[in-house]
Amino acid sequence: MLTTIWTVRNRSYAPRPIDYDFRDRQLIVPHSYAWYCGICGEVWARRVVLGSKSDPEWIFWQTPCIACGRTRNCFQLPGSLLHAHHDLIESMPDDLLAEEVLIQSEELYESTLSHP
Ligand SMILES: [Zn+2]
Repeated sequence: MLTTIWTVRNRSYAPRPIDYDFRDRQLIVPHSYAWYCGICGEVWARRVVLGSKSDPEWIFWQTPCIACGRTRNCFQLPGSLLHAHHDLIESMPDDLLAEEVLIQSEELYESTLSHP
């Protein structure tokens, strides 16, 4: 049984079960992910997959944190995870998803104000 734990913006979310991936007729342990800010270097989000006999395999994504994103004109939405692919988004706890939607809507609102 595999478990995934999300830690985002200094908040840890309740562990959730996660299935093995099935690829080329093999069961594969899903990757662990970390999101880091390319400006300040902070790792501001991670999804760790636990419960496998092997060590987690990590994938790192560069996405600006919210604090740095406020001072720069960033291509990506700072501090948001919703650019991830769908099976990652599906593995998010509901309360994390709700927070992500809030960040997206606040950003949309701000960009509407600054670009009328
Ligand atoms: Zn930063």
